[in-house]
Amino acid sequence: MRKLLLIYTGGTIGMITNAQTGALESFDFAHLYAHIPELKRFELDIQVKSFEQPLDSSEVSPQHWQQIASWITDAYDQFDGFVILHGTDTMAYTASALSFMLQGLRKPIVFTGSQLPIGIIRTDGKENLITAIEIAAACDAQGEPIVQEVAVYFEYALFRGNRSSKVSAHQFEAFAAPNYPLLAKAGVQIEWYKERLFRTNLPALQPQLQLSNEVLIWRLFPGMPIALYAKALQFPQVKILILETFGAGNAFSTIEFQSVIQGYIAAGGLVLNITQCQSGAVRQGAYQTSTFFEQIGVVSGADLTAEAALTKSMFALANIEAAHRGHFLKSAIVGELTTLEKG
Ligand code: ASP
Repeated sequence: MRKLLLIYTGGTIGMITNAQTGALESFDFAHLYAHIPELKRFELDIQVKSFEQPLDSSEVSPQHWQQIASWITDAYDQFDGFVILHGTDTMAYTASALSFMLQGLRKPIVFTGSQLPIGIIRTDGKENLITAIEIAAACDAQGEPIVQEVAVYFEYALFRGNRSSKVSAHQFEAFAAPNYPLLAKAGVQIEWYKERLFRTNLPALQPQLQLSNEVLIWRLFPGMPIALYAKALQFPQVKILILETFGAGNAFSTIEFQSVIQGYIAAGGLVLNITQCQSGAVRQGAYQTSTFFEQIGVVSGADLTAEAALTKSMFALANIEAAHRGHFLKSAIVGELTTLEKG
């Protein structure tokens, strides 16, 4: 019998309404379990671990990512797969972070949650959880797990975790991965797109749980008060600056902006360029408004999501030597970006 570890961190799926305030609040796993009697019908050995205090995922921090990653590391040999119940708001961040922290993965880690609590009749939580469990338990004829990476399952679709983003606060289709096609689609049967699944080259799981939050993100906007933002770069703690630029990686070419970025790089800072667009990639040098970045050594983040860019930067600061970080950020490590041929 296949063995799964279900980790309950919180999120809407297990919330109930506070009678006084009318706001949704996190509740314990027993409440959730009582609403899904189907869990007992699986021919699977499902063990449960729960955060002592289940959280709305807006409260989830890198310490919680480390907690989840260390539970998985400790249980890795005893289980065939892992399902993480998590709030949708920051699910893409946690899934992205785990993909970098747990390289060498050969078992599935499937994140899911819901837009409506499990106690509501129209909940999407039941289907999401039940199918996420099926996906985490799925294996080929040799008994090898079909999914061997961190994934997000939501509303009949399986996404690569570090390609996913929350795109809707109210639709059941809350997630998308605009730069990478679905890994699987759940209909009457689960339709797998096996050629899209990630496979590691590493010989074994390599847990690296350290992270550093010495990162800033600037989402560029017309009229941005550069002098105000530049003040933050004076702190020595800012080791990576992520620029969310326009279109294919473009920015205004004012002297003020360019000298701030150039000065920061000259002082040893690393700048990573990602696009504000939901889909597509940075192509530095494609327009005159991005040639400056190419000339001064800004790292192109290609088609990284903001969530993957941030967590990859946090991971790089704690685990990759300073001299190699630029190369690491622009390389595809766990299927998080598409490397583009030049020309
Ligand atoms: N605020 C909730 C959370 O992220 C939303 C959800 O789970 O859908 O925990």
